Amino acid sequence: MIEQDALVIATYSRRMQLLLPDGRRVDARIKGKRLKPVCGDHVEAGPIPGEADWLITAICERRNQLTRPNLRGKIEVLAANVDTLLVMAAATPEPDWSIVDRYLCAAELIGASAAVVFNKVDLPCPEGVDEILDDYVRIGYQAVRCSAKTGRNIDAVTGLMRDGVSIIVGQSGVGKSSLINRLLEDDRLRVGAVSEKSGEGRHTTVNSAMLQLPGGGAVIDSPGVRDYAPALQADEVVVGYREIAAAAQACRFANCRHLREPGCAVKEAVEKGTISKRRYDSYRHLLALTAKLTGGQY
Ligand code: GDP
Ligand code: ZN
Repeated sequence: MIEQDALVIATYSRRMQLLLPDGRRVDARIKGKRLKPVCGDHVEAGPIPGEADWLITAICERRNQLTRPNLRGKIEVLAANVDTLLVMAAATPEPDWSIVDRYLCAAELIGASAAVVFNKVDLPCPEGVDEILDDYVRIGYQAVRCSAKTGRNIDAVTGLMRDGVSIIVGQSGVGKSSLINRLLEDDRLRVGAVSEKSGEGRHTTVNSAMLQLPGGGAVIDSPGVRDYAPALQADEVVVGYREIAAAAQACRFANCRHLREPGCAVKEAVEKGTISKRRYDSYRHLLALTAKLTGGQY
């Protein structure tokens, strides 16, 4: 069996669809029980002689992975090699910006880029949104206001996704599925079509798919990714707020938590207004929350 690099573009429990370097799409099984490829994985695979299926024999090293603890407390990988997190908020439900901050924090930690997408601009906008979005831009995140319903500014959203692999995260009801549907324009682009052709009844519903976008780039969509809520540790929060991490270089203590420590450059920056009070409060809130969950003291 001659193996080559392939990309996992859909998963159906233990069955996968692969995109080969020559553009072909093939169905694949996985060698052994240990190997757990996910959407976005680069794998080594080869054709099984006499069968239509390919066999995945190894997973190439992941640049990053999106994880969550499953019901048994084990770490479950939702997607791999993600380039961009689009963090969505909307006019309704009432935006919870600390949740947006939490996703941005997760993006920093896995080394993915991130942008804020504010959806449902066809509806009346809650007060203060512009200032908050401007704050994100000030610290280097792109922020796009759009409507998945009317199509307004969707070009700007696709512009954020043109390079590499994206995922869309955010509170339930903000319009993630609506945005994906609009981005795809055409249902035929969906990868789910593998299911029918084998006729052996072995395929089940697709549980994760990487959808190629017409304008370039791809988006990984799955129920798990849509429900993804990052589980963060307190020491991760400290590095995940990028402007706070940058200012912290000048704190007197290297392990400063920016709470009550003397010589804290972060608190100074908040007083001067160069770090937004809202982001700082969000940082403290998340730090307290993670510390409580892990039994730490901050
Ligand atoms: P998800 O839970 O984030 O996937 O959100 P959905 O895509 O299911 O959308 C939740 C609700 O918001 C649905 O009733 C959508 O029709 C609606 N919705 C999504 N985008 C827009 C938008 O741009 N404007 C308006 N007015 N409603 C939207
Ligand atoms: Zn400090």
